[in-house]
Amino acid sequence: MIRIAIDGPGGAGKSSLAKAVAKELGIVYLDTGALYRTIGLYMLNSGIDPKDEVAVTAKLPELDLKLTFTDGKQHILLDGVDVGDTIRTPEVSMAASAVSAIGSVREYLLNTQRNIARTSSVIMDGRDIGTVIIPDAEVKIFLTASAEARAKRRFAELTLKGVETTYEQVYREMVERDKNDSTRELAPCVPAKDAILLDNSKLTEEKTLKKVLSIIRKVRKKKSGSGVYMFFHRLLAPFLRFLFKIKVVGVENIPTDGGFLLCSNHIAKRDVVLIGACCPRPIKFIAKKELMMIPILSSLFKALGAIGIDRGGNDIGAIRKSIDIITDGNIVAIFPQGHRYPKVDPATTPVRNGAGLIAYRSGADVIPVFIKTEGNKYRLFKQVEVIFGKPISNDELGFENGGNNEYMAATEHIFGKVVELGGYSLPSKNEPSTDGGAE
Ligand code: C5P
Repeated sequence: MIRIAIDGPGGAGKSSLAKAVAKELGIVYLDTGALYRTIGLYMLNSGIDPKDEVAVTAKLPELDLKLTFTDGKQHILLDGVDVGDTIRTPEVSMAASAVSAIGSVREYLLNTQRNIARTSSVIMDGRDIGTVIIPDAEVKIFLTASAEARAKRRFAELTLKGVETTYEQVYREMVERDKNDSTRELAPCVPAKDAILLDNSKLTEEKTLKKVLSIIRKVRKKKSGSGVYMFFHRLLAPFLRFLFKIKVVGVENIPTDGGFLLCSNHIAKRDVVLIGACCPRPIKFIAKKELMMIPILSSLFKALGAIGIDRGGNDIGAIRKSIDIITDGNIVAIFPQGHRYPKVDPATTPVRNGAGLIAYRSGADVIPVFIKTEGNKYRLFKQVEVIFGKPISNDELGFENGGNNEYMAATEHIFGKVVELGGYSLPSKNEPSTDGGAE
């Protein structure tokens, strides 16, 4: 999960930027200014002076405001009617600025905004997102530009929409709104202490987007611990590949970016190291919780971002964490067999439904991997093949409404593809499976 806060004065290009970032990352975009604008519009329509704190506060209980999303696009319904562009006029801008300085109005909108940030990956733009609404956002950007540059952009925008105004008027109102927003007592428009300041007076929209995406990428990389991972990877991978005489096949099947689930057969503990050494991107392995308790090793596993799972029951926390990691654009690896099966035909071992469940919830594609050893047994200095198969698209997994049967069927389909890479095939459904070799 990632929460991105974009704050800054009007006309800095926050909303176009936030929309583009949301599209790029496939996350929700919330334009919080539109909420204040709707309240400003409502007060104007009700004949109330938006600066009149007592009258605005008294009118708030009658406000019928609903926020909905269709196809990722935000809609605000006022008395059941979509406000659309009626909130984008200069008059409503000034009314929004006035009502937004009133405590009862900010209080009214607080939970709506916070609830969205609690439940999904989101990018929000406004004035107080990084300071008040999501103070623990992973990425905070304070986007600004000179008043002249912002007024020029806003003027062009309004002219395009057919609003009659002049550059001078837009400039004057912008400066006045800046002053109201940055000097008010409540949630003033100021950068959070940990926000990254970005002045885009001389940057195009594309360049601003590029910069912000690169900031987000860096934060994600740091958060995912992939820096530490890649350090060990570069240091150890060539040595391991030599030591175990690893032959890597199908590495081109690993997408260069984006999140997915990697599923492999499981022969020995060292499978984790082996696959890690062969995959060009960092992997977070789902490993049994007990491994995370071994002194020293546990610190290494944690640094590398392993996900500890309680194999006894349904470990919802670990599953949720895995889904978040995938939707954040990273790779999670799981052994669908759940246990190691060193000596038997992998095609005859039972699987659990975890892989299917994660694939369903994350909507991600799956990459099958097969670890092929001589006689399906590790021997030091004997060649091991790590075979990455072609991605299995999530559509291919046949999910309809979720549920254990679908997760199980999807896991079996995935595991069928895994063993196929090693030249095996799953037994037909009515043959009993052999549970030999389990630890
Ligand atoms: O961003 P936008 O120009 O649409 O915002 C309209 C007004 O709403 C701003 O001038 C500001 O006063 C107020 N606002 C706010 N806090 C936010 C978003 C907007 O006070 N998070």
